[in-house]
Amino acid sequence: MSLSTAAKKTVLISGGSIAGPATAFWLNRYGFKTTIVERWPELRPGGQSVDVQHYGMEAIIKMGLGQALKDRFTGETGTTFTDKNNKVYMNLPVGQGPTNETEILRGDFADMLYQETKNDTEWVFGDYVTSVNEQEAAGKVEVGFNSGKKDTYDYLIIAEGARSWGRKAASLDQGVEYRPIGCYIAYFSIPFEESTPFKDQWHVVALPRKRCIYYRPDFKANTQRAGVMFISNESKGYEKLSQQEQKAKIAELYADGGENADRMIKYLDQSDDLYFEYLGQVHAPKWSSSSGRVHLVGDAAWCGTPMIGMGCSLSVAGAYILSGEMAKHMDDPKAAARGYEENWRPTVTEAQKIAPGIPHIMFQETEWGNKVFLNIMSAVGFVVGSRFVQAIGPIITKIWNRLFPSQEQKTLPDYEQYLVERK
Ligand SMILES: Cc1cc2nc3c(=O)[nH]c(=O)nc-3n(C[C@H](O)[C@H](O)[C@H](O)COP(=O)(O)OP(=O)(O)OC[C@H]3O[C@@H](n4cnc5c(N)ncnc54)[C@H](O)[C@@H]3O)c2cc1C
Repeated sequence: MSLSTAAKKTVLISGGSIAGPATAFWLNRYGFKTTIVERWPELRPGGQSVDVQHYGMEAIIKMGLGQALKDRFTGETGTTFTDKNNKVYMNLPVGQGPTNETEILRGDFADMLYQETKNDTEWVFGDYVTSVNEQEAAGKVEVGFNSGKKDTYDYLIIAEGARSWGRKAASLDQGVEYRPIGCYIAYFSIPFEESTPFKDQWHVVALPRKRCIYYRPDFKANTQRAGVMFISNESKGYEKLSQQEQKAKIAELYADGGENADRMIKYLDQSDDLYFEYLGQVHAPKWSSSSGRVHLVGDAAWCGTPMIGMGCSLSVAGAYILSGEMAKHMDDPKAAARGYEENWRPTVTEAQKIAPGIPHIMFQETEWGNKVFLNIMSAVGFVVGSRFVQAIGPIITKIWNRLFPSQEQKTLPDYEQYLVERK
């Protein structure tokens, strides 16, 4: 296919975090003309470490970004679980616990994708979609923006995250369920202090009343990414408060949390990247409009919450499949929508399953409950870290994989033949 033919297809992508730019990355290479509109006034900062695994890593390697990802590794050396007084219950090194070799800050990940798309994609910050009008006969999508601008595109892709508003504007919200998992989460940056304990670790502090604090290092910016997580069986509406009110709420809820809470509260007011959410999964019965001109991708389509640990992996791999199907069926958008569903839905359905009891068993009501839980975790940590298990682990994994091949091992489809020559 020649670039001039394909370049006629224009795509508006709403949302410039992970799924949006990952989709633009590929569409640019298939010869589409892409625009990303991001509601935030600049590339949105914030978030803690995320990692990329399985099909996510496969997609990253196909993008040629394996080394770029490694170069941005946070340098976190493992995960340490303590109580309020920093008594260590468990320490798991990289690769043998929650810390992976591919840990990268979410903001760094978004920046990596921004750098890879900024020359080919038109990025528009500080605006958002307010109306969507599919003109089926013309094969176009008319989009209105908050700025008052109106424009027409061949495709609209909504990558606005779990709370997507564009999903509704595009009438793709019918049957979409937002299923809360009963847990609040917040992330924000604070400076390192000389006395910061476990500086190079993912430091998880278990607190009574079903709360925890955790810190993760950002050596490049010389900051720590602080996070809080607490159980709340129903939404208390905190996610709708202003950032100032959310900061006050965190300070109030963690006032008795000891030195680790005090450090976080001390700098909370200065932080400018607070992200506060009542976690929920998005289950969408369909990801594309009937014309195949409007698609959902990333958390807007299938948010699994950080509890599944696959948010970024699903985003980059899902973006790869959506854009590949669009290229494969350049003149048949409905077939592209079908291909997207068929090739990707089974993996998403599998990935969205949260282990039984999570997140509730991770949080205890009392200090004593936390001690029991941490001691059990510590025993598990001992077994996981034991030489015996390390030695036979790879053999067991091989046998298991042979007997029960999982979705995770499925290789992504190949769309290389649809790549166009780039200037
Ligand atoms: C600030 C932030 C911090 C995060 N931190 C973590 C973390 O530490 N750990 C973790 O596991 N996951 C985190 N996530 C979620 C993680 O990025 C996603 O689970 C996953 O990568 C899927 O990404 P996504 O691009 O689909 O959605 P998201 O990452 O949620 O991004 C959606 C983007 O769309 C923009 N947007 C929203 N509405 C509109 C609109 N109407 N018009 C235009 N743009 C819009 C948002 O500003 C955002 O940039 C974070 C997300 C954000 C936004």
